[in-house]
Amino acid sequence: MHAAVVCWGIGEAWKVEEIQVEPPKASEVRVKMLYASLCHTDILISKGHPIPLFPRVLGHEGVGVVESIGEEGGDIKEGDMVIPTFVSECQECENCVSGKTNMCLKYPLSFTGLMPDGTSRMSAKGQKLHHVFSCSTWSEYMVVNVNYLVKLPPTMITSGSFPLPHASFLSCGFSTGFGAPWKEAKLEKGSTVAVIGLGAVGLGAVEGARVQGAARIIGIDKNDKKREKGKAFGMTDFINPDHHHHHHHHKSVSQLIKDLTAGMGVDYCFECTGFAPFINEALEATKLVFI
Ligand SMILES: [Zn+2]
Ligand SMILES: [Zn+2]
Repeated sequence: MHAAVVCWGIGEAWKVEEIQVEPPKASEVRVKMLYASLCHTDILISKGHPIPLFPRVLGHEGVGVVESIGEEGGDIKEGDMVIPTFVSECQECENCVSGKTNMCLKYPLSFTGLMPDGTSRMSAKGQKLHHVFSCSTWSEYMVVNVNYLVKLPPTMITSGSFPLPHASFLSCGFSTGFGAPWKEAKLEKGSTVAVIGLGAVGLGAVEGARVQGAARIIGIDKNDKKREKGKAFGMTDFINPDHHHHHHHHKSVSQLIKDLTAGMGVDYCFECTGFAPFINEALEATKLVFI
């Protein structure tokens, strides 16, 4: 029996329960979890989005060590340090070879809450337990299909320069943001950047922009504590939109960004809140280029 955080139904309180975790089958490994973190998606999932599947073991960010391997473990060995991934790469399908997307067709994002073979290795009180995407990290042990794991380089751990608990953030939010300026926008050195929302995704985008050589990185958030956090990652300017309401006159986020950039706007704006109206603000905040 192992402890795990279970959500039994839509909006129900999360409970720590004793659960059963079966040994891994072919192409699967069992991972002893060391650290896990909370992503906003876990909250949405416990409210039944996008598909209500209960009971469910929550958590999809985490880092752990491989405890046992079923047949055909691939490159993964016992003792390897791993983080889960939700979309894998077969490196052979149309999408994988396109160079334009990593939405692999063979190992896609799964919304079934089950292993690729349609079953679950977790149960409690006689009931089958669902995953979050490919995994469930808020559990002492989780079984994952071997294709949905990323091995951490041993040097990253042994060098001591990278605290292992931080590796958990690489599973989802931070990497999502970090990859946007790097892999998607392919940001040029010296660019001006705005990042709307400074959660894990936004801070990842700030760091990604810094690493790509952005000259100016403007962060926008309603939480003043993010001023310091953003600066630690390379943010050069901070806007709290709530501090710009004067006499019931409300300035849009895009206008506040333009005010900081001589009315021009930025080269790149990354929307990291998921709040739909901000997509338009992000577009409005970028430069108009006349050719
Ligand atoms: Zn997430
Ligand atoms: Zn593929």
